[in-house]
Amino acid sequence: MRYVSTRGRAPELGFDDVLLAGLATDGGLYVPAAWPRFSAAEIKALRGLDYAALAERIMAPFMQGSVLAPHLGAICREAYGRFSHPAVAPLRQVGANEWIMELFCGPTLAFKDYALQVVGLMFERLLAARASHITIVGATSGDTGSAAIEATRGRKGIDICILHPAGRTSDVQRRQMTTVQAPNVHNVALEGTFDDCQDIVKALFADATFRTDANLSAVNSINWARIMAQVVYYFWAALHLGAPDREIAFVVPTGNFGNVFAGFVASRMGLPVAKFVVGSNRNDILTRYFETGTMSAGGVVPSLSPSMDIQISSNFERLLFDMGGRDAGAVERSMAQFKQSGSYAVNEEHHKAMAALFTGRRLDDEGTLKVIGEHFRATGDLIDPHSAVGVSAMRAAGIPKDIPRVALATAHPAKFPDAVEKATGVRPALPPALANLFNLSEHFTTLPNDLDQVKRFLRTNVMAKAQ
Ligand SMILES: *Cc1c(COP(=O)(O)O)cnc(C)c1O
Repeated sequence: MRYVSTRGRAPELGFDDVLLAGLATDGGLYVPAAWPRFSAAEIKALRGLDYAALAERIMAPFMQGSVLAPHLGAICREAYGRFSHPAVAPLRQVGANEWIMELFCGPTLAFKDYALQVVGLMFERLLAARASHITIVGATSGDTGSAAIEATRGRKGIDICILHPAGRTSDVQRRQMTTVQAPNVHNVALEGTFDDCQDIVKALFADATFRTDANLSAVNSINWARIMAQVVYYFWAALHLGAPDREIAFVVPTGNFGNVFAGFVASRMGLPVAKFVVGSNRNDILTRYFETGTMSAGGVVPSLSPSMDIQISSNFERLLFDMGGRDAGAVERSMAQFKQSGSYAVNEEHHKAMAALFTGRRLDDEGTLKVIGEHFRATGDLIDPHSAVGVSAMRAAGIPKDIPRVALATAHPAKFPDAVEKATGVRPALPPALANLFNLSEHFTTLPNDLDQVKRFLRTNVMAKAQ
């Protein structure tokens, strides 16, 4: 399988190089040169597989020609063998033809584990095959950092350094990163905001000498391999609810557009999807876009669902490329305009096609608390604020009653105990595997918001010690 950049001026690569590269050299994102397609009969033949076996079948076409292809089955079994529920992605019925897919059964309790557990193992095997070493750096406001650390801890050929804003993540989120004891894991508490962390990471990548010296790599959601691994659970849910004989609607609490784009990939592969409903909090750039056809950034306001506090949905570029007739020049012009003015309009015909498949719904914090409370009183189940945005969007979107709809629950309620307790009066308990989290000692280095000091930290504490 060959991959092309959405901006058309980076070399075509195979899967292995796309995995390591993350972002394309022209600033674009990699997508497959052509979508693999499953016929209805081929989709039917996937019924009854367990999650790991399904994952192998869905990902295989994207990895043709990869040195990892012969190991894919083993990688999937190892990755999903660590999940806490035998179904891996259990479906729970919450109303007539309404379902929640619980994507919080991985080691760090957010859906990011479903991709990162696989990607960590892929990195390790690929680096062993190439006798190479990488340094992963990343900025996190919460969930990505812990999922990336958990996926790479103790893995050969990898060091990982995650910057989080000192004092600005939740205690659970911070402890999930800082209590990990592994020589290749390095936590930095930066005296600044999440944006400061992200600026430093970008500056590290922009420094060509440093980038080469450290062999820098990233595992943020623009990495194609993460999207690919997330395609699996869309097939999983749809197969259990009657696909390919019935259309399904998916509701996705959305930030960077990575998760819902994976659903779009599933539809391109032949899965019949009636609608994607994109849920957002007050940071509603996507909801406004689907309504108007203009992508226009506002300021980011903090909300109860912090993993969706975003005004630039990087992965939307992939949809723009694909539904815009794969015109890389047009994508590049739109992105340049967005960078310059904070806004761009999508070609009317392309927007119309997008709006036929996607719709957006927003929910503010007050509404989020209300939905968490109502859901608890109706079902006895606790849901986290991100998942509540999804449940609300599922009911507001006006999907025809005969179409099964699945809202993705993207985090475990115990990751956001304050909001859940406020809404229900019940404080959600951490699952047994994490029950000890508040007794473990924390390891991190506090650094000022200063690029040179972060570089020095990486040179002396990470690069000098890497084997
Ligand atoms: C990352 C995250 C999201 C947003 O996912 P995207 O792929 O960025 O759209 C939603 N909910 C939770 C809990 C997350 O951690």
